Amino acid sequence: MSTDAEQTAVSGEAAGSGEAAGSGESAGRVNLLGLTREQLQAFCALLGSKPFRARQLMNWLYKRGCDRFEDMSDLALGFRALLAARAEIRLPEIVSQQQASDGTRKWLLRADQSQAFEMVYIPESDRGTLCISSQVGCALDCTFCATAQQGFNRNLSTAEIVGQVWLANRELGFEPAGDRIITNVVLMGMGEPLANFRNVVPALRILLDDLGFDLSRRRVTLSTSGLVPQIYRLAQEINVALAVSLHAPDDDLRSQLVPINRLHPIAELLEACWHYIDEQNGRSVTFEYVMLDQVNDSAAQARALARLLAGHPAKVNLIPFNPYPGSRFRRSSDAAIFQFRDLLLRGGVMATVRRTRGDDIDAACGQLVGRVTDRTVVRLGSRAEAARSRVARANA
Ligand code: SAH
Repeated sequence: MSTDAEQTAVSGEAAGSGEAAGSGESAGRVNLLGLTREQLQAFCALLGSKPFRARQLMNWLYKRGCDRFEDMSDLALGFRALLAARAEIRLPEIVSQQQASDGTRKWLLRADQSQAFEMVYIPESDRGTLCISSQVGCALDCTFCATAQQGFNRNLSTAEIVGQVWLANRELGFEPAGDRIITNVVLMGMGEPLANFRNVVPALRILLDDLGFDLSRRRVTLSTSGLVPQIYRLAQEINVALAVSLHAPDDDLRSQLVPINRLHPIAELLEACWHYIDEQNGRSVTFEYVMLDQVNDSAAQARALARLLAGHPAKVNLIPFNPYPGSRFRRSSDAAIFQFRDLLLRGGVMATVRRTRGDDIDAACGQLVGRVTDRTVVRLGSRAEAARSRVARANA
């Protein structure tokens, strides 16, 4: 099923706001940060250089964290001069940063004069997770999410998506020969990554490429609210871990909380998820489930969720709701959250509770707002409703 509303959800692509500042070129210079290995090889060929130059460039860029052509000492001087004339390494600019009492760090990055987006680093004893954004704002209008209240401005470019990981490494004191600081990357910041498919997939390729950030495919997770056609496309394009924002065990409730469900109901979404795992020899899909007091946290709902997922390659990650100014939901009690988890486990479904991190600097799940001033406030909920009634009228 594909309707106007769905088109709207991916309007960043359709409306031409995908190619924006930081993405491609400035003054005719190509930003090398957004190029995959193949694109970089093609670019080197265009400059009349050998393909192995691309390998050297990636080594400087990603293994050594170097962003100045003049410092790339094993490149011939003539090639460096050519690069300086035709290419650039342009990173998002940091507007501000904050550190939470638990060590979580959040950066506000400039998208252009008035727009900004956020990324968050979450240190843990055995890993370091960077949570990155894929859009400035979001069009999907999930009722419990702060980013949704911002409306949608534009897609981030591949360079801006990759640039977040590059910048965070530098900010966190990455050393070329030292240990990895960022071991995991999750596309769980601002935006719906599958609505920015065109820029997100090349960024994922650079994250996984052994000449790029060389991250393990199990340690790169894309989270989606459930754009079903794009889940099928993703399965064909690239192999990364998939997380799906489920949040309800039945269509009535899910359609209220996650309006894209009106276009792609739960059965359709789950089918896409199982297909994804089959295609990729993946382990399981992680279903995110925000715990909203008296909305989706009852024992009956836990049992219904277990019936839906038991026997499938699924695990559930329960996220205690993080409030934000103006939010109309409350977090479930700890007792309700742990009862819900236990009922899932008893029903044969692996379940964990996500620890809230960085909430004292509004860096927790669903609290990222960046700065979205010039927004095209696209509310998928109302548009989905309008599209549905048009279809109903046409069929009547
Ligand atoms: N748009 C994508 C990526 C966002 S990931 C998606 O929907 O999956 C961020 C996760 O945090 C999603 O599961 C989202 O539903 C959840 N979330 C949003 N608002 C939240 C809030 N206020 N408290 C807790 N989790 C929230």
